[in-house]
Amino acid sequence: MPQRTFSIIKPDAVRSGLAGTILSEIAKAGFGIVAIKKQTISKHEAEGFYAVHRSKPFFGSLTDFMSSGPLILMVLEKENAIADLRKLMGATDPAKAAEGTIRKKFATSIEHNAIHGSDAEETAAYEIGYWFAGYELL
Ligand code: ATP
Ligand code: MG
Repeated sequence: MPQRTFSIIKPDAVRSGLAGTILSEIAKAGFGIVAIKKQTISKHEAEGFYAVHRSKPFFGSLTDFMSSGPLILMVLEKENAIADLRKLMGATDPAKAAEGTIRKKFATSIEHNAIHGSDAEETAAYEIGYWFAGYELL
């Protein structure tokens, strides 16, 4: 049974013209695109999305960054999508990310790390519903 996950190409990567390259890596890895849109989000929307990190020291900076320019919001689908996307992304800190991963190749810092991917089934369901309406997911 295919599984859905939620992903963002973050503002650093969009600004650097890497959105197409990253999308191509995602497609080559076998993911189908269920829904996709380019959007600039507000600070308030970023705070809601990253609410689990509210108490972290980097919360203010992270939400400023995420609302600093257009990003690409996506719902992706394949067998084992959640774990496989996290593997394709690499570790949060690009310095620790494995060779060949998107963050190793395209991220510039632990904060400006090019891509987001849901980390579990419950977070994927929450994040898909946060950014996409039911009619966009048919
Ligand atoms: P994401 O949730 O974006 O897929 P992740 O699950 O690998 O990333 P999290 O721990 O959920 O990592 O952190 C969310 C985001 O917050 C990171 O992707 C990164 O942009 C930022 N971040 C995490 N740790 C730090 C840090 N120590 N300093 C600055 N920014 C950080
Ligand atoms: Mg996370």
